Amino acid sequence: METYKPSGKFRFSIFGLTAALAVVGVALGWVYQWLIDVVPWIYLSVVITLGFGLLLFLGAGWVTRLGRCRNVALAILVAVIAGLLVTAATYYHAYTIFLDDAMAAENIPAEQRAVATEQFPFRDYLKFRVETGWSIGRPGRDGSSGMPIKGVFVYLVWLIEAGILVGGAALGAVGAARQPYCESCDEWTEADLLTVALPQPEPDTVERVKTATSVDQLLSVPIAPSPDEASSLVYSLSGCPRCENSAFLTVKHVSVTVNKKDEAETETEDLWSDLVLSPAQLETMQAFSEQVEAAAGSAVETMQAFAEQVEAASGSTAAKDGEEQAEDVPPEAG
Ligand SMILES: [Zn+2]
Repeated sequence: METYKPSGKFRFSIFGLTAALAVVGVALGWVYQWLIDVVPWIYLSVVITLGFGLLLFLGAGWVTRLGRCRNVALAILVAVIAGLLVTAATYYHAYTIFLDDAMAAENIPAEQRAVATEQFPFRDYLKFRVETGWSIGRPGRDGSSGMPIKGVFVYLVWLIEAGILVGGAALGAVGAARQPYCESCDEWTEADLLTVALPQPEPDTVERVKTATSVDQLLSVPIAPSPDEASSLVYSLSGCPRCENSAFLTVKHVSVTVNKKDEAETETEDLWSDLVLSPAQLETMQAFSEQVEAAAGSAVETMQAFAEQVEAASGSTAAKDGEEQAEDVPPEAG
């Protein structure tokens, strides 16, 4: 079966947009570094770093979408360059903030800044930082200054920080560049145009879907529910709302199991991602959706039946399969 492959095309605006992202990132980097500086608790600093990484993740994804970048390698490259610039800027911001503090402490007037910068340049600051490091935790009552991070550990902290910021940008870009795109309409596709939840499939049916060799096999499975199964097969269609040239099918197996604390858990196993559908297969998918709905009476009844099954499952022990994306659902849910 054919899955969606990004075409590798992009608009030249991706470069300008990435430059704009880097400029905004450098400016936000000052706020970030200021926060890191005033917050005395390392755990909160980690949260702030992760937050900034998330912002870069979202920003890079947004820029990739706007620049219509379906070239995964290019999306990663520009995001990594922007991420590195932002990271380098945060280190430089740390230096200027340090210099400001030092000048204030020594009562050096602001107009002497050029002299101070000359006497204590950025590379001296880096050396100083590696030698003195930071202290973890708050100073103890006995006058101890907490656990210091020095030398090689300073480099390690910088490396982890850079990894979070650059990695965030790269991941955001990759995720966006891999989203299906309609090349004929020159537009991104939309997710969840149609979702079909096949309730309580027989284990045989699930196996047939897992081992299917054609889209038609996926869309011709028995739809009669098996009362003993606490799971459903979820078919979702993403595609172009304007034409039939870009339709992609994703199939997941959502199971409800009971954990050791006797709580119901939903586990999602990804079976197929973004399979290419022909216009004829798209019609088969629509017919399949109608069949499933008709068989269940209505979509609402389907949901109710599934919810009842969830409740029943939470009272008994069920075997576990598929480890991905487990999320806790209280037993009374639904
Ligand atoms: Zn289209």
